[in-house]
Amino acid sequence: MAQLSLRGVTKSYGPLTVVHGIDLELADHEFLVLVGPSGCGKSTTLRMIAGLEDISAGEVRIGGRVVNDLAPGDRNIAMVFQNDALYPHMSVAENIAFGLKQRRTPRAEIARRVAEAARILEIEPLLKRKPRALSGGQRQRVAMGRAIVRQPDVFLFDEPLSNLDAKLRVQMRTEIKLLHQTIPTTTVYVTHDQTEAMTLADRVVVMNKGLIEQVGPPQELYHTPASRFVAGFIGSPG
Ligand code: ADP
Ligand code: MG
Repeated sequence: MAQLSLRGVTKSYGPLTVVHGIDLELADHEFLVLVGPSGCGKSTTLRMIAGLEDISAGEVRIGGRVVNDLAPGDRNIAMVFQNDALYPHMSVAENIAFGLKQRRTPRAEIARRVAEAARILEIEPLLKRKPRALSGGQRQRVAMGRAIVRQPDVFLFDEPLSNLDAKLRVQMRTEIKLLHQTIPTTTVYVTHDQTEAMTLADRVVVMNKGLIEQVGPPQELYHTPASRFVAGFIGSPG
């Protein structure tokens, strides 16, 4: 059974349809990367999976269960955005623990999970700091820590590295890959960076104008692009 599935998922704003009936099935622990030009509907698709945006038509299932009518907090999904939106008045540890406190997770369990996330992300020395005392890369690690401690069924990333400089982007890319190996979690990762897509993905989904152009392992898209658009986007010679 697919861990996450989208069937005919559609988003319209009035007469304007921006996502046209997307079908996708993700296996348990799969790392799927969604790529495509700006405005093609990547964020809207993620936001519909997360429940931050209503679905105009179609169905989203997590672990076989239709979640269309579930609030974001009830979907057991964690999302990391480009702008991490940490709470400025809280310490790193408090930021990471916040979602668990809201869920009334026992105090000892919160402490255990925060410590574990900090160890995995190598941010133990930062736990008492405030977000303003962190670099961009450190802030993104904290945002990931906040996502990890929720032990979600599905991770959603929306261009999490696009505010970082090139060097840090490469480093964080490696860390995200390691993180996925350490805590294998079904993931949808949105980017417009082809290299990120090719290095991270089990499968890549190329979107264009609210439609899926092609889905497949990175090498397959590279060597046998289904269209000129995919070839141009993935950077293969064909
Ligand atoms: P991407 O993340 O691929 O850059 P988005 O999913 O953000 O694209 O946007 C897809 C399309 O939907 C864009 O054309 C955008 O202008 C449009 N869109 C997004 N949000 C709204 C909204 N609230 N009202 C109208 N159009 C929107
Ligand atoms: Mg976007």
